[in-house]
Amino acid sequence: MEYNNLGKTGLPISRLSFGSWLTFGKQIDESLVERLMGVAYDHGVNFFDNAEIYARGMSETVMGKVLRKSGWSRDSFIVSSKVFFGAGGQLPTQKGLNRKHVFEACHQAMERLQVDYLDLYLCHRPDKKTPIEETVWAMHHLIEQGKVLYWGTSEWSAQEIMEAHVFAKQNHLIGPVVEQPEYNVFARHKVEVEFDQIYKTVGLGTTIWSPLASGVLSGKYIDSNPIDTRLGMEGLEWLREKNLTPEKVETTRKLANLASELGISLAQMSIAWCLKNPNVNTVILGASQEAQLHENLASLDHVGLLSSEIMENIEQIVGNKPTFPAF
Ligand code: NDP
Repeated sequence: MEYNNLGKTGLPISRLSFGSWLTFGKQIDESLVERLMGVAYDHGVNFFDNAEIYARGMSETVMGKVLRKSGWSRDSFIVSSKVFFGAGGQLPTQKGLNRKHVFEACHQAMERLQVDYLDLYLCHRPDKKTPIEETVWAMHHLIEQGKVLYWGTSEWSAQEIMEAHVFAKQNHLIGPVVEQPEYNVFARHKVEVEFDQIYKTVGLGTTIWSPLASGVLSGKYIDSNPIDTRLGMEGLEWLREKNLTPEKVETTRKLANLASELGISLAQMSIAWCLKNPNVNTVILGASQEAQLHENLASLDHVGLLSSEIMENIEQIVGNKPTFPAF
Protein backbone atom coordinates (compact mmCIF):
# COMPACT_ATOMS: atom_id res chain seq x y z
CA MET A 1 0.00 0.00 0.00
CA GLU A 2 1.03 3.58 -0.52
CA TYR A 3 0.08 6.44 1.76
CA ASN A 4 -0.15 10.17 1.26
CA ASN A 5 -1.25 13.08 3.39
CA LEU A 6 -4.90 14.01 3.12
CA GLY A 7 -4.75 17.43 1.45
CA LYS A 8 -2.61 19.76 3.50
CA THR A 9 -3.24 17.88 6.75
CA GLY A 10 -0.65 15.66 8.36
CA LEU A 11 -2.99 12.64 8.21
CA PRO A 12 -1.48 9.74 6.23
CA ILE A 13 -4.26 8.03 4.30
CA SER A 14 -3.94 4.92 2.11
CA ARG A 15 -4.23 5.58 -1.63
CA LEU A 16 -6.92 2.89 -1.76
CA SER A 17 -9.66 2.81 0.83
CA PHE A 18 -12.87 0.85 1.33
CA GLY A 19 -16.49 2.00 1.46
CA SER A 20 -19.81 0.48 2.44
CA TRP A 21 -22.50 2.18 0.31
CA LEU A 22 -25.26 -0.22 -0.83
CA THR A 23 -23.30 -3.27 0.31
CA PHE A 24 -22.95 -3.24 4.12
CA GLY A 25 -26.24 -3.81 5.91
CA LYS A 26 -27.99 -4.37 2.59
CA GLN A 27 -26.52 -6.39 -0.30
CA ILE A 28 -24.05 -8.55 1.66
CA ASP A 29 -24.16 -10.27 5.05
CA GLU A 30 -22.07 -9.54 8.10
CA SER A 31 -19.65 -12.42 7.68
CA LEU A 32 -18.75 -11.20 4.19
CA VAL A 33 -18.33 -7.65 5.50
CA GLU A 34 -15.92 -9.05 8.08
CA ARG A 35 -13.91 -10.89 5.41
CA LEU A 36 -13.83 -7.88 3.07
CA MET A 37 -12.71 -5.46 5.75
CA GLY A 38 -10.08 -8.00 6.82
CA VAL A 39 -8.76 -8.28 3.25
CA ALA A 40 -8.64 -4.49 2.93
CA TYR A 41 -6.92 -3.98 6.28
CA ASP A 42 -4.38 -6.74 5.59
CA HIS A 43 -3.53 -4.98 2.33
CA GLY A 44 -2.76 -1.79 4.24
CA VAL A 45 -6.07 0.03 3.69
CA ASN A 46 -6.37 2.40 6.63
CA PHE A 47 -9.56 4.28 5.72
CA PHE A 48 -13.11 2.90 5.93
CA ASP A 49 -15.86 5.16 4.62
CA ASN A 50 -19.42 5.28 5.93
CA ALA A 51 -22.45 7.58 6.32
CA GLU A 52 -25.54 7.85 8.50
CA ILE A 53 -27.82 7.27 5.51
CA TYR A 54 -26.16 4.06 4.28
CA ALA A 55 -28.74 1.30 4.91
CA ARG A 56 -30.30 3.80 7.31
CA GLY A 57 -27.64 3.40 9.96
CA MET A 58 -27.23 -0.37 9.49
CA SER A 59 -24.06 0.07 7.46
CA GLU A 60 -22.42 1.84 10.41
CA THR A 61 -23.79 -0.72 12.85
CA VAL A 62 -22.32 -3.61 10.86
CA MET A 63 -18.98 -1.82 10.38
CA GLY A 64 -18.90 -1.03 14.11
CA LYS A 65 -19.37 -4.70 15.01
CA VAL A 66 -16.53 -5.70 12.70
CA LEU A 67 -14.23 -2.96 14.02
CA ARG A 68 -14.94 -4.05 17.59
CA LYS A 69 -14.51 -7.77 16.81
CA SER A 70 -11.33 -7.24 14.78
CA GLY A 71 -9.35 -6.01 17.74
CA TRP A 72 -7.56 -3.55 15.43
CA SER A 73 -5.85 -0.85 17.38
CA ARG A 74 -7.82 2.42 17.16
CA ASP A 75 -4.69 4.25 16.09
CA SER A 76 -4.34 2.00 13.01
CA PHE A 77 -7.46 2.99 11.06
CA ILE A 78 -9.41 6.05 9.94
CA VAL A 79 -13.19 5.87 9.92
CA SER A 80 -15.65 8.40 8.57
CA SER A 81 -19.30 9.21 8.83
CA LYS A 82 -21.33 11.64 6.77
CA VAL A 83 -24.22 13.79 7.91
CA PHE A 84 -27.11 15.40 6.01
CA PHE A 85 -29.60 12.81 4.75
CA GLY A 86 -30.43 11.42 8.21
CA ALA A 87 -30.53 7.76 9.18
CA GLY A 88 -34.11 7.23 8.08
CA GLY A 89 -35.99 9.47 10.50
CA GLN A 90 -38.51 11.70 8.79
CA LEU A 91 -38.88 14.45 11.40
CA PRO A 92 -37.66 17.94 10.47
CA THR A 93 -34.82 17.79 13.02
CA GLN A 94 -33.56 14.43 11.83
CA LYS A 95 -31.66 15.63 8.77
CA GLY A 96 -29.72 18.57 7.37
CA LEU A 97 -26.65 20.47 8.48
CA ASN A 98 -28.23 22.48 11.27
CA ARG A 99 -26.33 22.43 14.55
CA LYS A 100 -28.85 20.09 16.18
CA HIS A 101 -28.72 17.37 13.56
CA VAL A 102 -24.95 17.62 13.07
CA PHE A 103 -24.53 17.18 16.85
CA GLU A 104 -27.07 14.33 17.19
CA ALA A 105 -25.88 12.50 14.09
CA CYS A 106 -22.28 12.61 15.26
CA HIS A 107 -23.20 10.93 18.56
CA GLN A 108 -25.37 8.37 16.79
CA ALA A 109 -22.61 7.52 14.31
CA MET A 110 -20.04 7.10 17.11
CA GLU A 111 -22.46 4.77 18.92
CA ARG A 112 -23.18 2.66 15.82
CA LEU A 113 -19.52 2.52 14.82
CA GLN A 114 -18.53 1.79 18.45
CA VAL A 115 -15.80 4.42 18.45
CA ASP A 116 -15.04 7.33 20.79
CA TYR A 117 -14.36 9.74 17.95
CA LEU A 118 -14.75 10.02 14.16
CA ASP A 119 -11.57 10.63 12.19
CA LEU A 120 -13.41 12.29 9.30
CA TYR A 121 -16.87 13.80 9.51
CA LEU A 122 -18.29 15.00 6.20
CA CYS A 123 -21.29 17.10 5.23
CA HIS A 124 -22.84 14.69 2.71
CA ARG A 125 -24.43 17.45 0.58
CA PRO A 126 -24.79 21.23 0.94
CA ASP A 127 -27.83 22.27 2.99
CA LYS A 128 -29.48 25.25 1.33
CA LYS A 129 -31.67 25.79 4.41
CA THR A 130 -28.87 26.19 6.95
CA PRO A 131 -26.35 29.05 6.92
CA ILE A 132 -22.88 27.68 6.23
CA GLU A 133 -21.64 29.59 9.30
CA GLU A 134 -23.83 27.47 11.57
CA THR A 135 -22.39 24.25 10.16
CA VAL A 136 -18.82 25.54 10.47
CA TRP A 137 -19.44 26.40 14.13
CA ALA A 138 -21.04 23.00 14.78
CA MET A 139 -18.08 21.16 13.23
CA HIS A 140 -15.58 23.35 15.07
CA HIS A 141 -17.25 22.58 18.39
CA LEU A 142 -17.28 18.82 17.70
CA ILE A 143 -13.55 19.00 17.01
CA GLU A 144 -12.97 21.01 20.19
CA GLN A 145 -14.94 18.39 22.12
CA GLY A 146 -12.69 15.63 20.77
CA LYS A 147 -15.52 13.89 18.92
CA VAL A 148 -14.20 14.61 15.43
CA LEU A 149 -10.63 15.03 14.18
CA TYR A 150 -11.14 16.49 10.69
CA TRP A 151 -14.21 17.68 8.89
CA GLY A 152 -15.09 18.11 5.25
CA THR A 153 -17.75 18.02 2.59
CA SER A 154 -19.14 15.83 -0.16
CA GLU A 155 -20.49 17.10 -3.46
CA TRP A 156 -20.19 20.73 -2.42
CA SER A 157 -19.28 23.31 -5.03
CA ALA A 158 -15.92 25.07 -4.90
CA GLN A 159 -17.80 28.23 -3.96
CA GLU A 160 -19.54 26.58 -1.00
CA ILE A 161 -16.27 25.07 0.20
CA MET A 162 -14.61 28.48 -0.01
CA GLU A 163 -17.46 30.14 1.88
CA ALA A 164 -16.87 27.71 4.72
CA HIS A 165 -13.12 28.37 4.58
CA VAL A 166 -13.44 32.13 4.58
CA PHE A 167 -15.88 32.12 7.50
CA ALA A 168 -13.66 29.74 9.46
CA LYS A 169 -10.57 31.82 8.81
CA GLN A 170 -12.24 35.12 9.74
CA ASN A 171 -13.42 33.66 13.02
CA HIS A 172 -10.37 31.57 13.87
CA LEU A 173 -12.34 28.34 13.55
CA ILE A 174 -11.26 25.01 12.09
CA GLY A 175 -12.32 24.82 8.45
CA PRO A 176 -13.01 21.85 6.16
CA VAL A 177 -9.98 19.93 4.88
CA VAL A 178 -11.44 17.35 2.54
CA GLU A 179 -14.09 16.96 -0.17
CA GLN A 180 -15.59 13.66 -1.32
CA PRO A 181 -16.62 13.98 -4.99
CA GLU A 182 -17.54 11.39 -7.59
CA TYR A 183 -14.60 10.66 -9.89
CA ASN A 184 -14.22 8.21 -12.73
CA VAL A 185 -13.65 8.45 -16.50
CA PHE A 186 -17.29 9.52 -16.92
CA ALA A 187 -17.43 12.12 -14.10
CA ARG A 188 -14.46 14.49 -14.19
CA HIS A 189 -15.38 18.16 -14.07
CA LYS A 190 -15.32 18.86 -10.32
CA VAL A 191 -12.06 17.06 -9.64
CA GLU A 192 -10.20 18.19 -12.74
CA VAL A 193 -11.50 21.74 -13.25
CA GLU A 194 -13.76 23.13 -10.53
CA PHE A 195 -11.44 22.38 -7.60
CA ASP A 196 -8.23 23.11 -9.48
CA GLN A 197 -7.48 26.38 -7.67
CA ILE A 198 -8.48 25.27 -4.19
CA TYR A 199 -6.07 22.34 -4.14
CA LYS A 200 -3.42 25.06 -4.26
CA THR A 201 -4.98 27.83 -2.15
CA VAL A 202 -6.53 25.96 0.79
CA GLY A 203 -4.86 22.59 0.23
CA LEU A 204 -8.11 20.70 -0.35
CA GLY A 205 -7.84 16.91 0.05
CA THR A 206 -10.06 14.45 -1.81
CA THR A 207 -11.49 10.99 -1.09
CA ILE A 208 -13.14 10.07 -4.38
CA TRP A 209 -16.18 7.81 -4.86
CA SER A 210 -17.53 5.39 -7.48
CA PRO A 211 -14.25 4.81 -9.35
CA LEU A 212 -16.03 2.08 -11.35
CA ALA A 213 -19.26 4.03 -11.93
CA SER A 214 -21.09 1.50 -9.76
CA GLY A 215 -19.53 -1.50 -11.53
CA VAL A 216 -20.00 -0.40 -15.15
CA LEU A 217 -16.24 0.13 -15.48
CA SER A 218 -15.58 -3.50 -14.58
CA GLY A 219 -16.87 -4.25 -18.09
CA LYS A 220 -19.43 -6.81 -16.92
CA TYR A 221 -22.32 -5.05 -18.64
CA ILE A 222 -20.68 -4.92 -22.08
CA ASP A 223 -22.20 -8.06 -23.53
CA SER A 224 -24.51 -9.24 -20.80
CA ASN A 225 -27.11 -7.97 -18.44
CA PRO A 226 -26.41 -9.49 -15.03
CA ILE A 227 -29.21 -8.85 -12.56
CA ASP A 228 -27.62 -10.15 -9.36
CA THR A 229 -25.54 -6.95 -9.21
CA ARG A 230 -25.98 -3.43 -7.87
CA LEU A 231 -27.49 -2.13 -11.10
CA GLY A 232 -30.06 -4.91 -11.06
CA MET A 233 -31.20 -4.12 -7.53
CA GLU A 234 -34.76 -3.01 -6.97
CA GLY A 235 -35.06 0.68 -6.16
CA LEU A 236 -31.79 1.53 -7.93
CA GLU A 237 -33.31 2.11 -11.35
CA TRP A 238 -32.14 5.76 -11.16
CA LEU A 239 -28.54 4.59 -10.73
CA ARG A 240 -28.85 2.18 -13.63
CA GLU A 241 -30.25 4.94 -15.83
CA LYS A 242 -27.42 7.26 -14.86
CA ASN A 243 -24.55 4.81 -15.34
CA LEU A 244 -25.68 2.24 -17.87
CA THR A 245 -26.38 4.28 -20.99
CA PRO A 246 -25.63 2.78 -24.45
CA GLU A 247 -22.91 5.43 -24.96
CA LYS A 248 -21.16 4.50 -21.73
CA VAL A 249 -21.33 0.79 -22.54
CA GLU A 250 -19.79 1.47 -25.95
CA THR A 251 -16.98 3.53 -24.40
CA THR A 252 -16.47 0.78 -21.84
CA ARG A 253 -16.06 -1.77 -24.64
CA LYS A 254 -13.23 0.25 -26.17
CA LEU A 255 -11.59 0.80 -22.78
CA ALA A 256 -11.80 -2.94 -22.09
CA ASN A 257 -9.87 -3.65 -25.30
CA LEU A 258 -7.15 -1.26 -24.22
CA ALA A 259 -6.97 -2.80 -20.74
CA SER A 260 -6.63 -6.23 -22.27
CA GLU A 261 -3.73 -5.01 -24.43
CA LEU A 262 -2.08 -3.89 -21.19
CA GLY A 263 -2.74 -7.29 -19.64
CA ILE A 264 -4.90 -5.96 -16.83
CA SER A 265 -8.62 -5.90 -16.14
CA LEU A 266 -10.77 -2.92 -17.03
CA ALA A 267 -11.56 -2.42 -13.33
CA GLN A 268 -7.84 -2.20 -12.59
CA MET A 269 -7.20 0.22 -15.44
CA SER A 270 -10.10 2.42 -14.33
CA ILE A 271 -8.94 2.57 -10.71
CA ALA A 272 -5.30 3.13 -11.77
CA TRP A 273 -6.55 6.00 -13.97
CA CYS A 274 -8.07 7.68 -10.87
CA LEU A 275 -4.83 7.10 -8.94
CA LYS A 276 -2.84 8.89 -11.66
CA ASN A 277 -4.46 12.17 -10.62
CA PRO A 278 -2.19 13.71 -7.95
CA ASN A 279 -5.13 15.59 -6.42
CA VAL A 280 -6.84 12.31 -5.55
CA ASN A 281 -5.67 11.34 -2.08
CA THR A 282 -7.61 8.11 -1.86
CA VAL A 283 -9.82 6.10 -4.19
CA ILE A 284 -12.65 4.58 -2.19
CA LEU A 285 -13.27 1.06 -3.46
CA GLY A 286 -16.56 -0.77 -3.25
CA ALA A 287 -16.96 -4.54 -3.53
CA SER A 288 -19.69 -7.12 -3.10
CA GLN A 289 -17.32 -10.11 -3.42
CA GLU A 290 -13.90 -10.99 -2.09
CA ALA A 291 -12.51 -11.63 -5.60
CA GLN A 292 -13.55 -8.11 -6.68
CA LEU A 293 -11.70 -6.56 -3.78
CA HIS A 294 -8.51 -8.53 -4.46
CA GLU A 295 -8.69 -7.52 -8.12
CA ASN A 296 -9.28 -3.87 -7.29
CA LEU A 297 -6.58 -3.66 -4.63
CA ALA A 298 -4.04 -4.88 -7.19
CA SER A 299 -4.71 -1.72 -9.27
CA LEU A 300 -2.03 0.11 -7.34
CA ASP A 301 0.60 -2.20 -8.85
CA HIS A 302 -0.47 -1.22 -12.36
CA VAL A 303 -0.41 2.58 -12.19
CA GLY A 304 3.01 2.52 -13.88
CA LEU A 305 1.46 0.91 -16.98
CA LEU A 306 -0.53 4.07 -17.63
CA SER A 307 2.17 5.96 -19.53
CA SER A 308 1.38 9.34 -21.06
CA GLU A 309 0.73 7.54 -24.35
CA ILE A 310 -1.81 5.20 -22.72
CA MET A 311 -3.41 8.14 -20.89
CA GLU A 312 -3.76 9.85 -24.26
CA ASN A 313 -5.32 6.68 -25.72
CA ILE A 314 -7.83 6.71 -22.89
CA GLU A 315 -8.49 10.39 -23.53
CA GLN A 316 -9.21 9.65 -27.19
CA ILE A 317 -11.62 6.86 -26.28
CA VAL A 318 -13.60 8.75 -23.64
CA GLY A 319 -13.51 12.06 -25.54
CA ASN A 320 -14.73 14.06 -22.56
CA LYS A 321 -11.70 15.96 -21.28
CA PRO A 322 -13.16 18.80 -19.20
CA THR A 323 -12.12 22.25 -20.29
CA PHE A 324 -11.21 25.31 -18.24
CA PRO A 325 -13.20 28.50 -18.88
CA ALA A 326 -11.62 30.44 -21.76
CA PHE A 327 -9.83 33.75 -21.05
P1 NDP B 1 -17.60 1.55 -7.45
O1 NDP B 1 -17.98 2.49 -8.51
O2 NDP B 1 -16.25 0.94 -7.52
O3 NDP B 1 -18.72 0.39 -7.41
C1 NDP B 1 -18.56 -0.70 -6.54
C2 NDP B 1 -19.45 -1.85 -7.03
O4 NDP B 1 -19.06 -2.25 -8.33
C3 NDP B 1 -19.29 -3.08 -6.14
O5 NDP B 1 -20.09 -3.02 -5.00
C4 NDP B 1 -19.65 -4.18 -7.11
O6 NDP B 1 -21.08 -4.20 -7.22
C5 NDP B 1 -19.04 -3.69 -8.41
N1 NDP B 1 -17.64 -4.09 -8.56
C6 NDP B 1 -16.57 -3.61 -7.86
N2 NDP B 1 -15.44 -4.18 -8.29
C7 NDP B 1 -15.77 -5.03 -9.27
C8 NDP B 1 -15.01 -5.90 -10.08
N3 NDP B 1 -13.70 -5.98 -9.96
N4 NDP B 1 -15.68 -6.65 -11.01
C9 NDP B 1 -17.02 -6.55 -11.15
N5 NDP B 1 -17.78 -5.73 -10.38
C10 NDP B 1 -17.17 -4.97 -9.46
O7 NDP B 1 -17.64 2.24 -6.02
P2 NDP B 1 -18.92 2.67 -5.12
O8 NDP B 1 -19.97 3.28 -5.94
O9 NDP B 1 -19.26 1.57 -4.24
O10 NDP B 1 -18.24 3.83 -4.27
C11 NDP B 1 -17.18 3.51 -3.37
C12 NDP B 1 -17.49 4.14 -2.02
O11 NDP B 1 -17.54 5.55 -2.16
C13 NDP B 1 -18.84 3.77 -1.39
O12 NDP B 1 -18.82 2.53 -0.76
C14 NDP B 1 -19.02 4.91 -0.42
O13 NDP B 1 -18.24 4.68 0.74
C15 NDP B 1 -18.46 6.09 -1.20
N6 NDP B 1 -19.54 6.83 -1.89
C16 NDP B 1 -19.77 8.13 -1.49
C17 NDP B 1 -20.77 8.86 -2.05
C18 NDP B 1 -21.00 10.26 -1.61
O14 NDP B 1 -22.01 10.87 -1.98
N7 NDP B 1 -20.12 10.82 -0.80
C19 NDP B 1 -21.65 8.31 -3.09
C20 NDP B 1 -21.32 6.96 -3.47
C21 NDP B 1 -20.29 6.27 -2.89
P3 NDP B 1 -21.91 -5.46 -7.79
O15 NDP B 1 -21.08 -6.69 -7.57
O16 NDP B 1 -23.17 -5.44 -7.02
O17 NDP B 1 -22.12 -5.14 -9.24
